[in-house]
Amino acid sequence: MVPSFRDILNEVRRDIVEIEPQAAAGIFDQALFLDVREADEYAQGAVPGAVHLPRGMLELQVEGRVPDKDRKIVVYCAGGVRSALAAQALGQLGYSDVSSMSGGFNRWKDEGRDWVTPKTLDPDQRNRYQRHLLLPEIGEAGQQRLLESKVLLLGAGGLGSPAALYLAAAGVGTIGIVDMDVVDSSNLQRQILHNLDRIGERKVDSAKKTLTAMNADVNVVTYDVRLGADNVLEIIDSYDVIVDGTDNFPTRYLVNDASLLKKIPVVHGSIFRFEGQATIFYPYEGPCYRCLVPEPPPADLAPSCAEAGVLGVLPGIIGTIQAVETIKLLLKLGEPLIGRLLAYDALEQSFRTFKIRRDPACPACGEDAGEIVIAEYDDLCMPHTKQAPLLVVAS
Ligand SMILES: [Zn+2]
Repeated sequence: MVPSFRDILNEVRRDIVEIEPQAAAGIFDQALFLDVREADEYAQGAVPGAVHLPRGMLELQVEGRVPDKDRKIVVYCAGGVRSALAAQALGQLGYSDVSSMSGGFNRWKDEGRDWVTPKTLDPDQRNRYQRHLLLPEIGEAGQQRLLESKVLLLGAGGLGSPAALYLAAAGVGTIGIVDMDVVDSSNLQRQILHNLDRIGERKVDSAKKTLTAMNADVNVVTYDVRLGADNVLEIIDSYDVIVDGTDNFPTRYLVNDASLLKKIPVVHGSIFRFEGQATIFYPYEGPCYRCLVPEPPPADLAPSCAEAGVLGVLPGIIGTIQAVETIKLLLKLGEPLIGRLLAYDALEQSFRTFKIRRDPACPACGEDAGEIVIAEYDDLCMPHTKQAPLLVVAS
């Protein structure tokens, strides 16, 4: 005789561990709560901090979302049936400590336990970011985090253009842009945020138009100012990551020192002719800019800041790498470029990485570094480098 669903469910229940909501609440701090209901049910209310993974996507995505198979997991649905089936599937996948919450979220809620209305994506956002949602490493929670993230771009030029475009497309919710220049036709060879109609316009305004026309989810905050000792701390405050696309050494020192004070990571990029570099200066976890370039060179030894040429595509590559590293930092994904300098040579078509280390004697982040003073450094261009070669930059 073909078994009925009830027979199958009874068999499943013999095979799994069930837990009462009261007992589940007792292990709230140790267990991961896995919500296997559909998106519309989850949006109505959920156990605080629960990971949402609809039953239909469970086997496909759970290993990406919950990599630790020995993690204590309480799986729940609305009434305890789907979660029983889910618990069995998790057991078959090798998860060793899974319980299904009997009575599900409905009983949890009826018993007066804590619940929240989760922030969820609306249907337009679910469609727009669909390719992110399909990645278990990002998913709805990761996309939500991107939408709540704040990234500050220093410069709306060669590096800032591709970085801003991809960060906006990815749904980074707040993008600040600092630039005091005006769009010139000589920018258009590489600064793809701008176009012919924008010539003569403030770069920050042009950037804002381009980014908001592409993604209305993004709040673009513009700073049409020269970044200086008087305003840097105020401007960078509250941003999660700084993307440095500046083209001069004084600003880099200024940003370095301010980012150390505020403990904000800086995703650095630089370009010169056919070569580019990228790294992350993560305060007190990896080297800072001064670990690599400890002292501004004496003004009389510094060569003049003559404009160096640059292949127009090059900042597209380096700025895009900066965008990738920024998203990785925001979502805590993969291996960030901390303590590594990535060098790209367009003519060779090669990437190389160099290990870079914190300097214990660094005047800014070293063991004996004094209090950080935010100061301006004028009249210098080419620093003396210590470890890896640092490049002159054309924005
Ligand atoms: Zn340092």
